[in-house]
Order: sequence, then structure tokens, then C-alpha cells
Amino acid sequence: MVKVIDFYKPVPKVIETVAKKKKRPKFMAVVDEDNCTGCQVCIPFCPVDCIEPLSKEKYESPPTPPVQVRFNECIGCNACFKACRQLTWDAIRMIPTDEFEAIYNITID
Ligand code: SF4
Ligand code: SF4
Repeated sequence: MVKVIDFYKPVPKVIETVAKKKKRPKFMAVVDEDNCTGCQVCIPFCPVDCIEPLSKEKYESPPTPPVQVRFNECIGCNACFKACRQLTWDAIRMIPTDEFEAIYNITID
């Protein structure tokens, strides 16, 4: 039987101080909007505070809109991926930055 403490071991710590991006990340966190429950559990785990709920204008229903990542601030640390997967759901993918740029036609600094 898996102990509760073992299950939560891979979950990163909730951040206390917001950091800043220093270099181009190797990965980008991408939220699958159709799969995200909008629970916002991932938000306090992001060390650069770059996850935010989508506007309610875009999502009038359901009442809790999914979240999105401000891509040019993301440092690719995967904390949100782990938090979502271990604590709530499975709505975040980590994509190599080169691949991300080609798919979404967005340039990451
Ligand atoms: S933890 Fe997962 S399901 Fe919840 S808001 Fe974040 S991405 Fe969406
Ligand atoms: S990968 Fe790290 S920096 Fe990027 S959104 Fe997730 S928690 Fe924030």
C-alpha cells in the first residue's frame, strides 16, 4: 500500500517569493484548455507567477474558466505539471521550446 506521504513527495513546494526568468527555457508548459478544470491549484506552485485564469468573456460557461500560461515568462520548471498531475488532474503538457515555437508560431526569448 502506498503511503500518503510517498504520493505527495514529488509535488513541488508552494512558492513564497516570485522569481524572474533569466534565460530561454528548454520546455514550455501548455495547458489543455478543454481538459483544465480551472481549479487554480497549479497557480501558487509557479515560481515566476505566470499562470492566470482565462478571461470570463472567453469562457462564460463553465463558471471557473481554465488557466493559461504567459509563455514568455515561463521558465519550463514543470512545477505546474507536477502539481496538476499529483494533486488534481492532468491538463498540462511540457513541450520542448523549439517544438512549441513551431507549433504555435510564438517566439520565446
Ligand atoms: S491544476 Fe490543472 S486542472 Fe487545475 S487549473 Fe491548473 S492546469 Fe487546470
Ligand atoms: S513550467 Fe514552471 S514557470 Fe512554467 S508555468 Fe509551469 S510552474 Fe510556471
